Amino acid sequence: MSLLFDLHSHSTASDGLLPPAAVAARAAERGVSHWALTDHDTLAGLDVARAAADVAGVRLIHGVEISIVWEDTPIHIVGLGFDRAHSGLREGLDILRGGRLARARRMSEAFADIGIPGVLEGALRHAENPEQISRAHFARYLVEIGLFKDKGEVFEHYLSPGKPGYVQHRWASLDEAVGWILAANGVAVVAHPGRYRMSGGQMQRFLETFKDLGGAAIEVSCGSHTPDHVRHFAQQARRFGFHASQGSDFHGVESGRPDLGMFAPLPEDLKPVWRLLGY
Ligand code: AMP
Ligand code: MN
Ligand code: MN
Ligand code: MN
Repeated sequence: MSLLFDLHSHSTASDGLLPPAAVAARAAERGVSHWALTDHDTLAGLDVARAAADVAGVRLIHGVEISIVWEDTPIHIVGLGFDRAHSGLREGLDILRGGRLARARRMSEAFADIGIPGVLEGALRHAENPEQISRAHFARYLVEIGLFKDKGEVFEHYLSPGKPGYVQHRWASLDEAVGWILAANGVAVVAHPGRYRMSGGQMQRFLETFKDLGGAAIEVSCGSHTPDHVRHFAQQARRFGFHASQGSDFHGVESGRPDLGMFAPLPEDLKPVWRLLGY
């Protein structure tokens, strides 16, 4: 069997559309041999994912995608291959999730202020667990009621920094996120670096800081990276000595969004992150 690592994906344990067991089955169908479920700020899907992966015949790698803010920029740090019972990691994520519902209330008030009431109630209907409420659930509700034609439009006009439905939130710090992952014997990875609104100089400083804290890898190839992003971040991986990760960032079967296993191959000279995970 050929190897295909997909090290970034979501289920209904956070803002994905399929339950963890269905993601496991789909990963196997799509030819993924090693699969990481990386739900936002939670490990809640991993038990079911483990059992389903065994049945489907894929190797599960424990994953999580941690929301942080670094110098006012929201960033995501993926943790891979950690001990999922580690209390420091679990407690850190518990506290982090605790803020989501409070943020969602403030977002809903912001929408009410511009004449769109009841958005929190609507968004919550799309979330399996209220403490996982995400901007993605807000976007689904606003599309559902016909205010916008797609989620991208909602994000562009309402849910991005500076837009009326966006509220600042105190997520984890970079030190906290990397610290929790390393304490639990995991590997810390910068998620989709091509997506952040940072200058080149800022990105350099961010990657230096991440490396100094013990960060080991960056996603070079992922569902949202263009070929230019892949080339650029491959070069950054070489320059900083990072291992390279890859993953679809699958959230569900939706037109225009990446399916499991859908991303460009890594340039062959890079050190794949799975070498650090024992593969
Ligand atoms: P949150 O963690 O609540 O801030 O929500 C962030 C989530 O929204 C991301 O994990 C994506 O799933 C989703 N998202 C962010 N930007 C977009 C976009 N432009 N289009 C669709 N979904 C997006
Ligand atoms: Mn998401
Ligand atoms: Mn992300
Ligand atoms: Mn993601």
